[in-house]
Amino acid sequence: MRLYEHEGKDLFSKYKIPVPQGRLAKSAEEVFELAGEFNKPIVLKSQILTGGRGKAGGVKFGSDPQEAKSEAEKLFDLQVGGFPVEKILIEEKLKIEKELYLGITLDRANYKIVILVCAEGGVEIEEVARRDPQKILKLSFDIDEKFHQFQGLVIAKWLEVDSPQLREVGAIAGNLFRLFKDYDAKLMEINPLVLTSDGKYVAADSRISLDDDALFRHPDLKEMGIEKRHEEGELTPREIQARERDIPYLDLEGDIGMFPGGAGFGIMGNDFVSYFGGEPANFMDSGGGPTPERLANMLVLLDENPKVKAIFAARFGGISRCDDFAKGVIKFLKEHGLSKPMVMRMTGNMWQEGVRMFEEARKQNPKLFEKLEFHGIEVPIEEIAKKAVELAKEAG
Ligand code: GDP
Ligand code: MN
Repeated sequence: MRLYEHEGKDLFSKYKIPVPQGRLAKSAEEVFELAGEFNKPIVLKSQILTGGRGKAGGVKFGSDPQEAKSEAEKLFDLQVGGFPVEKILIEEKLKIEKELYLGITLDRANYKIVILVCAEGGVEIEEVARRDPQKILKLSFDIDEKFHQFQGLVIAKWLEVDSPQLREVGAIAGNLFRLFKDYDAKLMEINPLVLTSDGKYVAADSRISLDDDALFRHPDLKEMGIEKRHEEGELTPREIQARERDIPYLDLEGDIGMFPGGAGFGIMGNDFVSYFGGEPANFMDSGGGPTPERLANMLVLLDENPKVKAIFAARFGGISRCDDFAKGVIKFLKEHGLSKPMVMRMTGNMWQEGVRMFEEARKQNPKLFEKLEFHGIEVPIEEIAKKAVELAKEAG
């Protein structure tokens, strides 16, 4: 689980790693007020779960409350890496003399904890690693190995810290190491660790990723207001909803809802849609002989997904029959209604009966079928995929 910068800094504080005084704001008005309380130049930092904010315009400055407010308005309008900005961290603006890098991560291949140190901070460390790998100091530790004071000094020396402050910076490294182990972290970075013009070392940024499987060991996170949250690798709300109904389902990046037959047909459908230039919004498997209720539930998942612009449906009736499939779709049309254009095809077991049932139901209530175009074996599946891609494009 990734933490927001301000959450990471709360943990830093707890472990005596110096951070700037900060306040959190959820609106430009709040920023205006807080900037007044600071009564000095401030930095405004969008709180999002991705790095590279500096480059993306997600870090701004304000020399007075008015400027802070107008910069905050810009930030709240911004999407950084696809994330909307909902919170801004306001801090006293540091006068930066130097930007350093200090990070800890796991070396999974060798079962080690690794501290990474570089006197060139602020920029992406991956970039330095590519360009000048010799500039990065790596210290490896066994999982149960202690951090010794002299190692702190080695780190501080690598960061070109002046002698009187070697211990101070060494202690920051030692504290970060303790924090990393105490909280079962996967990654902790201070980038940049700043040397200010009045000679202080301060963590100007935090990046922390914790091991989800160990979160139960840290109830205090909840007390600090740090909640478990969705991120890559965790289930999305729709995936949870699908799981509750026992439907194998995965959210993908695209905008075409995929309503296939079994898993194999589902994979093929996603392949066809991609081939014709579309992007599936999901992968789904009906999971064995689906009842009409189950089929209707599957369609609800797609129809209620705001990302979905059109729905592709293809059924190859094998053990589960196309007339049962048609029953499920008709049930959905009657009870829920279709708000997205959907194009579908049925072949295989009982497909003629399925088509006949649709025609019959359409005769009775043409309005239900306004958004649904259905075909039998006469239209090849490629055409259905192409049509779904077109429909999604038309919907913009
Ligand atoms: P990131 O780009 O998401 O990693 O965000 P950072 O918090 O690291 O900020 C990006 C850059 O903004 C830093 O490397 C600094 O150069 C600059 N920056 C951040 N905070 C301050 C500050 O308080 N004062 C000044 N002068 N620059 C800052
Ligand atoms: Mn940073």
